[in-house]
Amino acid sequence: MKRLKLGGAAGAGRRIVEVGGLAFGRDFIIIAGPCAVESEEQTLRTARLVKEAGADMLRGGAFKPRLSPYDFQGLGAAGLKILKAAKKATGLPIVTEVMDARHIDEVSACADILQVGSRNMQNYTLLKELGNAGRPVLLKRGMNATLEEWLHAAEYILSAGNPRVILCERGIRTFETYTRNTLDLSIVPAVREISSLPVIVDPSHGTGKASLVRPMSLAAAAAGADGLLVEVHPRPAKAASDRGQQITPRAFADLVPAVRNLVAHLKAARPGARP
Ligand code: PEP
Ligand code: MN
Repeated sequence: MKRLKLGGAAGAGRRIVEVGGLAFGRDFIIIAGPCAVESEEQTLRTARLVKEAGADMLRGGAFKPRLSPYDFQGLGAAGLKILKAAKKATGLPIVTEVMDARHIDEVSACADILQVGSRNMQNYTLLKELGNAGRPVLLKRGMNATLEEWLHAAEYILSAGNPRVILCERGIRTFETYTRNTLDLSIVPAVREISSLPVIVDPSHGTGKASLVRPMSLAAAAAGADGLLVEVHPRPAKAASDRGQQITPRAFADLVPAVRNLVAHLKAARPGARP
């Protein structure tokens, strides 16, 4: 790829995106929670358990982009209200998806970070509008997007006036069908070579399989990711969406210390790190 002359380009050091006392690009940030907000009980229970396990932020979709219009579409405004209650109960900052530019204000009233889903990565109208949002944007990689297309999508938000963009690798379409997507971990150091933006990894959508979330979370940390986004549900088999990939709170509680230990080890092993 030709050298990018973009606002997010590498060169001036890494961009730090601060949210609620945490800093993407400096701290390793773990975002966890259900695929969808299904009820107050499910969301609050998950929020308490992931907080106890060491999560930094809570995720959960109130507006869900689903394959079929007959599938559960999310609770919408009622879901946002539940997320607000979960934040009040746990103190965890909220990450939730905005699918439509008309919803930006409504979602911003509850969210600390606005997520743009894979299917909307090239919704340039939405991206331009997010340039005026007073919230950081988590920009997921389009499932068919090259690195250049992804970084240019980020540039739409940056150039429209919002400097707080965090990238999220969530798997791409390949010929492989055993996994839901192919998690492209080589993109993490590639992003860091040519962009200053923080980049996190979503091993849940990246694999579609709960059993693969732990190994790919560790691999993401080893590849230099700035954090993780992990789907956690108290009863994955009963979830309204993405049943096969959500891990239990117990599995998440086992995962967090393993990832944090690895991150600490990698940091200590970096060239120039003090012994
Ligand atoms: C999600 O994170 O809830 C989601 C729908 O992910 P993606 O846009 O990566 O499919
Ligand atoms: Mn999901």
